[in-house]
Amino acid sequence: MITHSPNPAYLADDERYTQMTYQRCGQSGLKLPRLSLGLWQNFGAVDNTVNSRDLLRCAFDNGINHFDLANNYGPPYGSAEANFGKLFQADFKPYRDELLISSKAGYDMWPGPFGDGGSRKYLISSCDQSLQRTGLEYFDIFYHHRMDPETPLEETMMALDQIVRSGRALYVGISNYQPAQTKEAVAILRSLGTPLLIHQPRYNLFDRWIEDGLCEVLDESGVGAIAFSPLAQGVLTNKYLNGIPEGSRAANKAIVHLSENDISAEKIRKAQALNQIAEARGQNLAQMAVAWVLHNPAITSCLIGASKTAQILDSIKALENLTFSEEELHSIREIIS
Ligand code: NDP
Repeated sequence: MITHSPNPAYLADDERYTQMTYQRCGQSGLKLPRLSLGLWQNFGAVDNTVNSRDLLRCAFDNGINHFDLANNYGPPYGSAEANFGKLFQADFKPYRDELLISSKAGYDMWPGPFGDGGSRKYLISSCDQSLQRTGLEYFDIFYHHRMDPETPLEETMMALDQIVRSGRALYVGISNYQPAQTKEAVAILRSLGTPLLIHQPRYNLFDRWIEDGLCEVLDESGVGAIAFSPLAQGVLTNKYLNGIPEGSRAANKAIVHLSENDISAEKIRKAQALNQIAEARGQNLAQMAVAWVLHNPAITSCLIGASKTAQILDSIKALENLTFSEEELHSIREIIS
């Protein structure tokens, strides 16, 4: 008898590992997919859960087996982890050993002095809360989300070390740390016996700060990197070339991280010029923006966001051409510098 369920059981595509490529993360034994999916937006309590589910299924079916969370993703805070936990239970539990799931703590999360920063108190409690919300037994990677100048770096790194030693996570990472702080963190973690796996910085055609020292530190230290906001939240796609379309991130007044003001005439002019180079390469702007990020040898994986499955499928096509001629790189530099 055939029974119809409103949420038919998910079976991952048998071909899921045929398109994606995987790269070793620094000098670790761990390989990351060249594209990873972030759950910062589109997975909160305010979002459509069926769409969130479809995004995860689409990603995994296409070999994107790394999902990136943080304690404060939503809105409201915590709801992306809670939603992910439900979707994981329904769809991905049988695939746990094929998945890399990360979370972070470092920004404000709960009221009072212990819900923010880099103290051992905050990091351990927050990691426990994140495990509870997601229902996971452990995270593959746990990050300190941003440097806390008020907490000794030793304390923060010792907390990360404890998170690994207690079985809460397999690897540790840092995000948004400057080169000098990264170097120090590497040394402390090495002395503790829990090497730093990965750094998560913002990196895209409009924001190249990591080229000013961080890439060098990561290379020397054997640490990998996963670049967030590779599409500058959508500005490095065809989406805004002719204004701000309805339904886009910039049109959503509830999203404070990308407003109409962030889409300046100058940025659009640059995006239009970059789009011409992309077209000459047989790519669209989003695909070239992803390819350009992955072209940097420091970058292990490109951490995209998506509001539609079509965007994931579109960005995956970037992998078909990751090489740039000297002439293309020169023209790109002229536009973005
Ligand atoms: P992106 O730069 O990839 O922007 C994603 C947005 O771009 C999508 O939501 C969509 O916007 C648009 N988009 C994506 N693909 C396409 C496409 N092919 N064509 C047209 N538009 C497209 O990344 P995010 O800024 O979302 O960041 C990605 C992840 O990085 C986060 O989910 C999070 O995991 C991590 N992150 C980490 C931070 C940190 O401090 N460590 C900070 C910020 C992010 P639209 O909604 O308009 O359709």
